[in-house]
Amino acid sequence: MSDTNLSAILHKKGDLKLEERPIPKPGPGEVQISVRKCGICGSDVKYWKDGAIGHFIVNKPMLLGHEVSGVVSEVGKGVTHLKVGDRVAVDPHVTCRMCEFCKSGRYNMCPKVYFLATPPDDGALARYFVHAADFTFRLPDNVSFAEGACVEPLSVGLHACRRARVTLGHKVLVTGAGPIGLCAMMCAKAYGAKIVCMTDVDEKRLEFAVKCGATHTLLIEKGETEEEAVVRLEELIGGRPDKTIECSGAQFSVNFAVHATKPGGAVAIVGHGPPNVSFPIVATVAKEIELIGSFRYVNTWPTVIDMISCGKIDVKPMITHDFSLEDTLKAFETAKSGLGVKVMIDCGRD
Ligand code: NAD
Ligand code: ZN
Repeated sequence: MSDTNLSAILHKKGDLKLEERPIPKPGPGEVQISVRKCGICGSDVKYWKDGAIGHFIVNKPMLLGHEVSGVVSEVGKGVTHLKVGDRVAVDPHVTCRMCEFCKSGRYNMCPKVYFLATPPDDGALARYFVHAADFTFRLPDNVSFAEGACVEPLSVGLHACRRARVTLGHKVLVTGAGPIGLCAMMCAKAYGAKIVCMTDVDEKRLEFAVKCGATHTLLIEKGETEEEAVVRLEELIGGRPDKTIECSGAQFSVNFAVHATKPGGAVAIVGHGPPNVSFPIVATVAKEIELIGSFRYVNTWPTVIDMISCGKIDVKPMITHDFSLEDTLKAFETAKSGLGVKVMIDCGRD
């Protein structure tokens, strides 16, 4: 274990530095975590490249990273369900536990949320950080730290499947085969979907999707219309998807999702690119398509951890790179280049 706290701080757009920071002490209800693995998310890369995502702007130095696992290294007052030495993964939310959303089990809507690595809130890409104990979950011995860090993106996928009500025997379309689309695909399969077809404009991403378990893939071709792509999809999967999970943020995919989905089916929107996109309102209405927003996750850690532990979700094929904390900049360059799918940073020292 380290006695210093090397931390990856984003000062402003393009200015990511490794610095020593004090080791934080856990307050009541908190645990100090000696971080082992931290995955790089598209949002970490975007804050580094652009200094902002929508109205979340990096105005002061911020610690990056919110896909985290580690070992409990100190427990604060009142924490009884965790002890020093426990291997854990964390849900990046810390919410108020008082508002109507927290009380009704939709804490992802809490207006007072602290969310790791979302300005101005610090993340966890460091040797140590402190987190609320009730958002910290024990990992079984057979779940590795790298898998533990992947519980976060898998949670985005699980929440989207829950929102879209994916179930046994469904045909599911997932648009966009980045890490989030892959996680949605893995969760849909674990839910018992018969077919999970992934789309992308990048052939390599689709080849990778097959390695990760996609049953079918459809390469979206330059210049084709959404309707043309629907015809090819129907031939490919022998019908229309019951549910679609949009994970590309592309305007094309939103239109395609509505046209492709069965009448009465649901489209869960996870991806966001431009702040406004248009969607085919007549088709949405005439087909009674449910358009559903899906934001982060609620109460997903225990389920995802169990699903990894029992082997129903195998996230390992998605992890393509592992860098040391000292090589954080290289890790970010790799994530930015699109060469990697899930790039991990090893924050431990022993
Ligand atoms: P990513 O950029 O790695 O993946 C997006 C994929 O979509 C890429 O492979 C890209 O080639 C593909 N794509 C682009 N245009 C396409 C098209 N026309 N048809 C099909 N595929 C197309 O991103 P990611 O990290 O996997 O995240 C996916 C999206 O989810 C992003 O928009 C991100 O902002 C969003 N996101 C949302 C939440 C949430 O809580 N709602 C959480 C995390 C990420
Ligand atoms: Zn709240």
